Amino acid sequence: MIAGAVVLLSGTAAMARQADRYLVVRCGTLLDVPGTPAKKNVTLVVKNGAVDSVLTGLDAKASIPAGASSEELNLSDQFVLPGLIDCHVHLAMEFTPDMRLRMLAENEVDSAFRSVMFAKKNLMAGFTTVRDLGAGGEVVVKLRDAINRGDVVGPRIIAAGKAISVTGGHGDPTNGVRSDVFGLAGAEDGVADGADECRKAVRNQVKLGADCIKLTATGGVLSPSSAGLAQHFFDDELKAIVETAHAMGRKAAAHAHGVDGINAALRAGVDSIEHGTYLDDESVRLFKEKGAYLVPTLLAGETVSANAKVPGYYLKVVADKAAIVGPRMLEMFRKAHGGGVKIAFGTDTGVSTHGENAREFGLMVKGGMTPEQAIISATITAAELCGMSRLVGTLEPGKRADLISVRGDPRADVTLLERVGAIVKDGAVVRGADGD
Ligand SMILES: [Zn+2]
Repeated sequence: MIAGAVVLLSGTAAMARQADRYLVVRCGTLLDVPGTPAKKNVTLVVKNGAVDSVLTGLDAKASIPAGASSEELNLSDQFVLPGLIDCHVHLAMEFTPDMRLRMLAENEVDSAFRSVMFAKKNLMAGFTTVRDLGAGGEVVVKLRDAINRGDVVGPRIIAAGKAISVTGGHGDPTNGVRSDVFGLAGAEDGVADGADECRKAVRNQVKLGADCIKLTATGGVLSPSSAGLAQHFFDDELKAIVETAHAMGRKAAAHAHGVDGINAALRAGVDSIEHGTYLDDESVRLFKEKGAYLVPTLLAGETVSANAKVPGYYLKVVADKAAIVGPRMLEMFRKAHGGGVKIAFGTDTGVSTHGENAREFGLMVKGGMTPEQAIISATITAAELCGMSRLVGTLEPGKRADLISVRGDPRADVTLLERVGAIVKDGAVVRGADGD
């Protein structure tokens, strides 16, 4: 026993002596805090994965103790900014017309392998943090853990687990399929009716490892359901979901298209509205009164409108909904942004193609934001909504060293963010200066 204790002690001592790791990033331009002036020709010093200091000059000498490991990243001809954050993705899926057929042939293991590939695509597009708002089973919760362990390369993930839905609602996985094959879904699968089942469904997701709770307050576009886009959960159910989530320290993200569902969810105290298609003046007032965020997913609108025109791409019931929702979203965005609603960047990637997340920026600018406002939305504001402002969103000392580079100033041309150069996550170089 004593010998074992000695081994344990010396092991701890060895860990304490482990060499510090430094990364020295030479930045032609550094936008360390979006919304403030960028710094020209500076050196960003990263220690053990966190931002340590920003030094003046491209050749500034970082004080690195003897014995520490250090690496240089030369971005002296590039524009460096914090890693991007997408508050609405689905890492376990990417919509294809044969999705319903695949439900019969594939299981959670297939989703898990796909999610590894999709996660990497999000990271390689410059998204160092993503919030996954809904996946069947435990795929994304386990993917998050695997990435955190270093087993899989991917962005840092905030996972919602399975979305909470009413029976027959947008998040009921047994919509439009044979009940004798797929059965009926219950609270364990996130399908809940009545306040008590709603509480149970939320608690179950927390138990399974969810970081936040997603609920489908209204009908949705891609579900094979003709239950419309209006409010699905009753007010007492919404209240039960939000209160239970908050009691367990989780934020609640409400998918909502119809205005009755948007406003009911806001009144119930949700932290964000996802999509928000039919929001009105009262919604804008409620967003501000409650301090809730809008996650606009303009790219999803753009994607479903385009696909709805392709014969046979969606089921008719889906195509009909896509055709009315898609074109409305820019107008919705203009109204919310003009009304002063806090907007956190989110794409609904998985509805669109993984790795194309940055296309959202161009749409946000089309909807009335300046490029700089869109960048703030995908960094500082997104970090706030994710409850991660202490870790990510800016490159201030103490925060995780998540950064990307582009060639040119994205505050002048926001579409430059569709072609990200270097990527650093947690102080580790994922892709170098020349895109290798
Ligand atoms: Zn979604």
